[in-house]
Amino acid sequence: MTRTVYVNGDYLPETEAKVSIFDRGFLMADAVYEVTSVLGGKLLDYAGHEKRLARSLNELDMVNPVTPEDLLEVHRQLVERNGIENGLIYLQITRGNAGDRSFVFPDTSVPGTIVLFTQSVPDLELPKSAQTGIKVIAFDDLRWGRRDIKTVQLLWPSMAKMAAKKAGCDDAFFVKDGMVTEGSSSNAYIVKGNKIITRPLSNDILHGITRATLLVYAAEAQFEIEERAFTIEEAQSADEAFVTGASTFVMPVIEVDGKPVGTGAPGPVARRLRELYIAEGKKAAI
Ligand code: PMP
Repeated sequence: MTRTVYVNGDYLPETEAKVSIFDRGFLMADAVYEVTSVLGGKLLDYAGHEKRLARSLNELDMVNPVTPEDLLEVHRQLVERNGIENGLIYLQITRGNAGDRSFVFPDTSVPGTIVLFTQSVPDLELPKSAQTGIKVIAFDDLRWGRRDIKTVQLLWPSMAKMAAKKAGCDDAFFVKDGMVTEGSSSNAYIVKGNKIITRPLSNDILHGITRATLLVYAAEAQFEIEERAFTIEEAQSADEAFVTGASTFVMPVIEVDGKPVGTGAPGPVARRLRELYIAEGKKAAI
């Protein structure tokens, strides 16, 4: 099926969507993005994604070419036009086409480029990985220092995922100065008894929307939350480990750098938090 995508004000078949070769997203990775999940045809955590998008743009002196009202409507139109029941909406805004290649930002009169497209994921709610858990390797965190901005500079995370694949694993825990920062496309957590431990927000990690929402639900469910960094060794000896992200919700981690975590199977806390996030998320979805 040919998807309908959105490019700079137009809904087009994906085969007709075009962006200039001079676009700074293409030439300089000068662009930010968001991924919002869709369950039952509705958007999860939309307000959080919209807010983070505004923050990312602001940090880079970029302007959203679309108003907040129109942006929500574009999301809804794409869900409808592509018949998305469960899946993802990808959004990218670049600094636009400066007409040439230059390190210097173009004048603010150059409009940004905005692109949105859908990906249907029928088993988004119940993927096999959520039942089996995933295995992660430790991987040096060599990304730039503003990981709090959701830019499209994803080569190092891609290399981390390739290294994980080569090692027979699914993903990576990034490590900086001996401490886990986050997953290659997720926030990372360990569980000790009733306590959920995760790195505090800073420029070192992306401020996950799923993280923010889940921590509220977890506190309401009487879990203790400790925001501090942890090591790979601590993760290996924890009761449980898991990651969160808009496309994976809560995903149990059963092995860290070759060692099983807990029983080596998905644990009850990750399972409960996943159920909680999905049930509450669906209720609040728009
Ligand atoms: N950290 C990184 C590096 C990510 O790429 C992502 C997902 N894009 C996350 C964390 C999770 O963020 P969210 O819950 O907003 O998807």
